Amino acid sequence: MHFALSAEQQAFRRLVRDFCAAELAPRAAAIDRDAQLHWPTIQKMAAIGLLGLQVDEEYGGAALDTLSASIAIEEIARACGSTALSVSAHNGLGAAPIQRWGSPEQRQRYLPLLTGGECLGALALTEPGAGTDLAGGVQTRAVVEGDSWIVDGQKAWITNASHAPVVVTLVRTDPDAGTRGFSLLLIEPGSAGFTIHPPERKMGVRGSPTHMLSFENVRVPTASGTLGERGRGFHQTMQTLDAGRISIAALCVGLAQGAYEHATRYALERQAFGKPIAQHQLIQAKIADAATEIEAARWLVYAAAWRADEGLDFAKQAAMAKLKASEVAERVCHDAIQIHGSYGYSSEFAVERIYRDQRLMTIGEGTSEIQRLVIARRALAESQG
Ligand SMILES: Cc1cc2nc3c(=O)[nH]c(=O)nc-3n(C[C@H](O)[C@H](O)[C@H](O)COP(=O)(O)OP(=O)(O)OC[C@H]3O[C@@H](n4cnc5c(N)ncnc54)[C@H](O)[C@@H]3O)c2cc1C
Repeated sequence: MHFALSAEQQAFRRLVRDFCAAELAPRAAAIDRDAQLHWPTIQKMAAIGLLGLQVDEEYGGAALDTLSASIAIEEIARACGSTALSVSAHNGLGAAPIQRWGSPEQRQRYLPLLTGGECLGALALTEPGAGTDLAGGVQTRAVVEGDSWIVDGQKAWITNASHAPVVVTLVRTDPDAGTRGFSLLLIEPGSAGFTIHPPERKMGVRGSPTHMLSFENVRVPTASGTLGERGRGFHQTMQTLDAGRISIAALCVGLAQGAYEHATRYALERQAFGKPIAQHQLIQAKIADAATEIEAARWLVYAAAWRADEGLDFAKQAAMAKLKASEVAERVCHDAIQIHGSYGYSSEFAVERIYRDQRLMTIGEGTSEIQRLVIARRALAESQG
């Protein structure tokens, strides 16, 4: 594989990095403390394409390749984990399925809203009783009555739902049809019977809103509210999650990079035994390991994104990137606190926040256990020829 970032990709990274350094990094502590996104910054993100990373230009998107989209999420996460999670979910989970499977009318109705900076996209898969095992556990049902679906059930842990003009929702439409018995519906908040519960109080990514949803006899027009074909919802979900994993992996690289930069700066300043702690070899070992691991994770993200952009199968590489990058973020953030000593345990220092933010990443959009199963299944199939 011959590979290098293009001049455009490098310029885009600089643009997003400068934007995040000026607009986002100084606000990250407040976003976490107040458990609120900073909307003026989100609106400015729309102006530089960050809210329509892979949406067509005719709907206000930037129509970027997957690699550029990953670079953007890495840079946002380097500055603020909460904002990165909401922007990643918005692009990869909320907007992407509508861009991919929406009818011209559905795209026209929702995508300009999503790219405009006033709202964020959401995808509702998880339920109180089903996260990993969606096929076996999803209870939310939709039945046809006249020209509408009638939806009943609950969803849990849904990012951005309170800011979404529409929630892409996985429902069971044909209970006896196994994985062919699911559909994705477009459900608008404000529909009678649709309740978005107050935000969850979380350990990390506290600025990113996460909600429980309830549906009680919610009426959704079958013609305009079914995304793609009836019965394809499970398949659409798996495809969306494969691509979403590249984005979450990029987010992990950004969190790790941010923590690493805070730790190296601190190590150069903090004195112990008459010299900066950066001159003690055991601190250098942590810095060397972090730099190496971050670089390895970043290249796995690039490889998965490159395969996606080339139209090659990328499910195994996306799982590898997400598994590796989330575990690297965990280790690097752990060591970043260690390098800070007691100060790393204080909310006055960014590494404390980043450590809490990264903890989600081995869980959301497929746990590490599931990434290992995906990788093993494919690796074993390959070795059988
Ligand atoms: C902050 C946050 C934001 C989120 N945003 C969204 C969102 O926008 N949309 C959405 O739909 N969901 C969202 N989620 C939900 C998230 O995707 C799920 O929590 C995740 O998929 C895991 O599901 P679960 O929590 O039900 O865990 P479970 O499925 O109950 O798993 C519990 C444990 O069992 C393990 N396990 C399960 N099955 C196996 C197996 N076969 N082999 C080995 N181990 C197994 C898991 O790996 C895990 O360690 C979010 C969650 C959080 C915390």
